[in-house]
Amino acid sequence: MTEVYLDYNASAPLDPRVFEAMAPVLSGEVGNASSVHRFGRRQAAVVDEAREHVAALVGGRPGGVVFTAGATEANNLALRGAVEAAPAGRQRMLVSAVEHASVGRTARWLADCGLVKLDITRVTPGGFVEPDTVQELLGPDVLLVSVMAANSETGVLNPVGEIAEQVRAAGALFHCDATQMAGRLPFDMEDLGADLVSVSGHKICGPGGVGALVGTRHALTKLAPVIHGGGHERGLRSGSLNVAGIVGLGAAARIAADERESESARVAILRDRLVTELEAQLPGVQQNGDPTRRLPNTASIRFEDADAEAVMSNMDPVAVSTGSACSAGSIEPSEVLTAMGLSRDTAFESVRFSLGRFTTDGDIGIAIESAIAAVERVRTMT
Ligand code: PMP
Repeated sequence: MTEVYLDYNASAPLDPRVFEAMAPVLSGEVGNASSVHRFGRRQAAVVDEAREHVAALVGGRPGGVVFTAGATEANNLALRGAVEAAPAGRQRMLVSAVEHASVGRTARWLADCGLVKLDITRVTPGGFVEPDTVQELLGPDVLLVSVMAANSETGVLNPVGEIAEQVRAAGALFHCDATQMAGRLPFDMEDLGADLVSVSGHKICGPGGVGALVGTRHALTKLAPVIHGGGHERGLRSGSLNVAGIVGLGAAARIAADERESESARVAILRDRLVTELEAQLPGVQQNGDPTRRLPNTASIRFEDADAEAVMSNMDPVAVSTGSACSAGSIEPSEVLTAMGLSRDTAFESVRFSLGRFTTDGDIGIAIESAIAAVERVRTMT
């Protein structure tokens, strides 16, 4: 049986070109990037090159890149770092109802600890945040607003430019989790007016366990570190640098920026074929999220009267997901889908297909057949 991987939003395969870029660092290079001797300086030079690629991917400054162990840590640094360094009078935070757990749960934890007041901005049934909803909640006491660029479960895009403008006018920081957006659609933090942006290596065919928080000069001065130590990364993230991971992230960012347009156009055609054929060949198929404002690689599909976990296991060895990978195994329905107004039962009938760089037309053919067979089998069982 041919394995088909349609779970890129959980983790994308490492691009062999990224592996090649990392190999010298892993197999012979030595030195701590902070050391002043030539070995250390060589490590620092490749790290700085990666900084440039990561900054270019999101329209930031190389000097504003703070390398972390992934987007989860970047999100924690943005939220916790801002709260820790909050100026007097700014003690409220707004986050959208469909954020990744590393934003949503961090914000809730900060509120539970009494460190910040939290308001959750609702989303439309289409899954995006209306700028007006943010405007209603903004005020002079707001410290930071966090709204993701693209949702991992539905692929739905938020109007981050408009939101950023409102947030800036209110004198608050705007943090945008661009983990799913970067490398898929144009994203320029300077044009958009975002202050802090999170990215992750393994969503862009780079290594896992490495990511970055990219900040404007102003925003980074408004953060306190979450991890204390030797003062690496402008004092915001101590710890000897993961040079191989960082070089991999840099290479992945460079390739993603170079190939974004052609790759996204190709992947969108495959995704649309998948959706169209499933809708044509099965009754009771509906898409979650506004299909007119969505990542090119993602489809969240509801199969009426078919439990998604059962569909997913019947589709093996085609890998899909029933929600974000980070909440996999949980018996609660997807918080993203319920925030969009789906009932518990409806949310439990939703499967996410996410495609990427190495997905082929043949893969989609297999996935369509497998999904149809699985849904039909599960429907007859219930
Ligand atoms: N934000 C979003 C939107 C994500 O999809 C993910 C990964 N599921 C993360 C943050 C966390 O990224 P990482 O795995 O690098 O910690």
